[in-house]
Amino acid sequence: MSGYERGRIMSKLADLVEQHTEELAALDGADAGKLVLLGKIIDIPAATQMLRYYAGAADKIHGEVLRVSGKYQGYTLKEPVGVVGVIIPWNFPTMMFFLKVSPALAAGCTVVVKPAEQTPLSALYYAHLAKLAGVPDGVINVVPGFGPTAGAALTSHMDVDSVAFTGSTEVGRLIMESAARSNLKMVSLELGGKSPLIVFDDADVDMAVNLSRLAIFYNKGEVCVAGSRVYVQEGIYDEFVKKAVEAAQNWKVGDPFDVTTNMGPQVDKDQFERVLKYIEHGKSEGATLLTGGKPAADKGYYIEPTIFVDVTEDMKIAQEEIFGPVMSLMKFRSVDEVIEKANCTKYGLAAGIVTKSLDIANRVSRSVRAGTVWVNCYYAFDPDAPFGGYKMSGFGRDQGLAAMDKYLQVKSVITALPDSPW
Ligand code: ADP
Repeated sequence: MSGYERGRIMSKLADLVEQHTEELAALDGADAGKLVLLGKIIDIPAATQMLRYYAGAADKIHGEVLRVSGKYQGYTLKEPVGVVGVIIPWNFPTMMFFLKVSPALAAGCTVVVKPAEQTPLSALYYAHLAKLAGVPDGVINVVPGFGPTAGAALTSHMDVDSVAFTGSTEVGRLIMESAARSNLKMVSLELGGKSPLIVFDDADVDMAVNLSRLAIFYNKGEVCVAGSRVYVQEGIYDEFVKKAVEAAQNWKVGDPFDVTTNMGPQVDKDQFERVLKYIEHGKSEGATLLTGGKPAADKGYYIEPTIFVDVTEDMKIAQEEIFGPVMSLMKFRSVDEVIEKANCTKYGLAAGIVTKSLDIANRVSRSVRAGTVWVNCYYAFDPDAPFGGYKMSGFGRDQGLAAMDKYLQVKSVITALPDSPW
């Protein structure tokens, strides 16, 4: 199918997704405990924007003319890699689906999507909408199942050409191993994070507190780029801590279908227990619990927005990805000190900086080893901004035109010119 035709069908799919916003947001709400209102105004629009962005790219896939030496001419062709296995997590079922599927389709690949076992419903609905949009049978395949069976079948399959994965660092490692052992398929991994949000003395404290609350409590902390380590400079630290506690206590936990709720339940019992266990670790390692720290209801997997202070870099809660509403607040003195601290985990997915100083913003942006840096904002995503990790947060980039390269092969074609001696 031509790129133009692929783009046309992808645009049609985007229109259909938009028309089914209510049902889709409700499916993700029921499956993952995500706020339905935010699904409608953030997740679904982000997904359709992604589809349309790559729909526009589908007929603009160019090779290059090469300056080959001798009596030859050369050019490159960009060809689809073939069958792409897409393995995604449960925290953003809709966005993850289109983050991988949109550029893959634009590139001319077919996909086999293995949604997370906790959240298969919207992915199945997208397969249905794809059919209505005119996506030919076999181009978007959705196979729900568990990781070690359905997921592993994709990563070890000899006819799958590439796997695009988002999930935990542990599973990312298994996926690379499986790809290496089978057909050396291409792999791209977007893995865990322990992202720092750094607030400098010159920041507007109220704005910074709001940003830090959003950075960790949005989507109940079940976000790979959650700002789970908040570093605050000593001059504003006391005021910040006081206001952060108030802000956390005003963050309403409850039914994700209720439009006044700020935070729903954790996705399942495993995550609920895992987060509570990390909170216990924090306490036993000597951090001070300022607010939250326990279930927020008698029933369901609700956890109170939680803040720890007196956290040191060696503690589990400062190093490991909790994937829950737990903020570790830490004080720092100098720019040098905070750069070192920001970089002292195995992860490198994102970082946030709050300052009015251009010099500080520039210096820290360049010194933090993370794939995305947000200055005076957080969670500012756009299809045009490449997204991915440094260090053990993985490799390969989603979003941006560069993400198309994950789904394209480059072929060099060298042709002898008529008067070539060969
Ligand atoms: P999370 O910690 O967010 O649940 P996981 O890395 O466990 O992330 O899961 C992300 C995705 O990877 C899910 O779709 C899951 O089913 C899948 N998965 C888990 N284990 C494997 C595996 N061994 N091989 C392939 N996919 C897997």
